[in-house]
Amino acid sequence: MKIGILALQGNVREHINILKKLDAETIIVKLPKDLENIDALIIPGGESTTISLLMKKYKLNTAIKKKHKQGMPIYGTCAGAILLAKEIIKDKIPNLNLIDISIERNSYGRQIASFEAELSIKDIGNFNGVFIRAPVIKRFYNGAEILSEHKNNPVMVKQDNILITTFHPELTDDARVHEYFLNMAQEYKEVREMQKDIERL
Ligand code: GLN
Repeated sequence: MKIGILALQGNVREHINILKKLDAETIIVKLPKDLENIDALIIPGGESTTISLLMKKYKLNTAIKKKHKQGMPIYGTCAGAILLAKEIIKDKIPNLNLIDISIERNSYGRQIASFEAELSIKDIGNFNGVFIRAPVIKRFYNGAEILSEHKNNPVMVKQDNILITTFHPELTDDARVHEYFLNMAQEYKEVREMQKDIERL
């Protein structure tokens, strides 16, 4: 399985390290051509404004949306989740609009900007959530499924081939969220291969 990591800014190395633990092949994505041979993409945490500007500059936003349409799964952590959202409340950041949620940046406020919390994740179990200047998902729409909540706010959401967490599993030693995403990637890879076989008939 080849997993691309969008490497414009943010926690790139940490995702690579945790994916290596799971024996996944990792590919650094800096330009649209780097998306060609990957099975799935991770958009890391960092600064959503910076990542968004660079994505636009290198025409990665249109390239990513095109690959997503062809069935490529995408996992966004924190800033990555912000960029995948349908709506970013208050801020005017060019977003990918691939998951039906409205999200607000830095929404926990200065006092508790960063914290850890014991989460319960559907199909995974208890998980230590590391939140760093995290956004809050304020609204979600029909297609999105909540996999975990913290104090009534969704913190892990899935919609078809998109997964987001407002916390950072890559900053722990626990690879189970990444493993969950690899399983999603495997499922979608098999579907794409089946479609190709059908087209060949
Ligand atoms: N506060 C950052 C933003 O708004 C996200 C923080 C993170 O990714 N850890 O882009």
